[in-house]
Amino acid sequence: MYRVAVIKGDGIGIEVTNAAMEVMRAVTDKIDFVEFEGGIELFKKFGVPIRERDLEEIKKMDAVLFGATSTPFNVPNYKSLILTLRKELNLYANLRIIPDLWRDREIYIVRENSEGLYSGEYEANNSRVVDFRVITREGAEKIARFAIELAKDRNFKEITFVHKANVLRGDRFFRKIVLSLAEREGIKVNEKIVDSFTIELVRKPWQHKVILSENLFGDILSDLASIHAKSIGVIPSGNYGEEIALFEPIHGSAPDIAGKGIVNPIGAVLSGAMLLDYLGLDGWIIWNAVKNYVKKGNLTPDLGGNAMTVDVVNGIISEIDDQEIDPIEWDELWVDEIRINTIPTLFRK
Ligand code: ATP
Repeated sequence: MYRVAVIKGDGIGIEVTNAAMEVMRAVTDKIDFVEFEGGIELFKKFGVPIRERDLEEIKKMDAVLFGATSTPFNVPNYKSLILTLRKELNLYANLRIIPDLWRDREIYIVRENSEGLYSGEYEANNSRVVDFRVITREGAEKIARFAIELAKDRNFKEITFVHKANVLRGDRFFRKIVLSLAEREGIKVNEKIVDSFTIELVRKPWQHKVILSENLFGDILSDLASIHAKSIGVIPSGNYGEEIALFEPIHGSAPDIAGKGIVNPIGAVLSGAMLLDYLGLDGWIIWNAVKNYVKKGNLTPDLGGNAMTVDVVNGIISEIDDQEIDPIEWDELWVDEIRINTIPTLFRK
């Protein structure tokens, strides 16, 4: 049995996490879900976004499923729960999958998640504030390897590496590491300068398969690329460390639609699929079920339909039931679309 920590958070985080668990349970009975409290309500009571003892317990789990929490501006000293978890669990790689669910294609955006301008290192006095853009050899190697292994696993011949090495020393250092690792692994590196690349990402996004960048650039590029998925509600992500990984839809707590039953659960459901892949279980079943469902089923209002969350969840589960495959046939099917949705072996549990 695997043990998965669940932090639903608040707002639509609760609805989408419930949906994801329901779909995951339709695929496997090998997971024990253990729920933990976290986020703004807990902070108001105890002054921390998550309890210390819970954090220690979560560190012993196999993976984390996260919903969404709001990060209010008006609560003094509030520390974001997701940032706390990324730091405490040493989650250095962020993988966001931008899906085109109607045409079976994806963009994988790999962002370094612990260094760069978000390193937290700074110098400040009354007349000058400097945030350090930290790039270490270890950090650069780990994230480069992640992107390269991902490309190899998907049978892609190249990755797109986005940087500003013509100006920034840190990116020159990062670039050398990426180029040498990629060469060793037989992967071509398509280099792009970040500013002009934004236009390309708007106009011709799908020609890029795996996009690799440092923290701040990756943050901006992954938000920009999200427009190609048609709704923020369908985009899943994973945050990977060496010991554990955390999976979450990219959307926030969206209080404007919380509790109305109309939230799109697909981003959370696909995050659940990424989690299953990470554990070596059958995430591809969920991916295929979601793709089959969206092509014919009624969709939630963000995608122009009038379905309720529960309709989409039931529709996906009935697609899963229709996929019940005799294990003997799996090898044949593996060759086609199914392999596309696995996670690189290097980053499996
Ligand atoms: P937060 O403050 O937690 O970031 P937010 O509302 O500012 O929350 P998001 O939740 O990321 O930001 O999303 C912005 C808007 O997109 C929401 O207000 C909502 O209308 C829509 N949205 C986000 N997620 C979904 C979803 N899963 N299904 C449908 N609509 C969504």
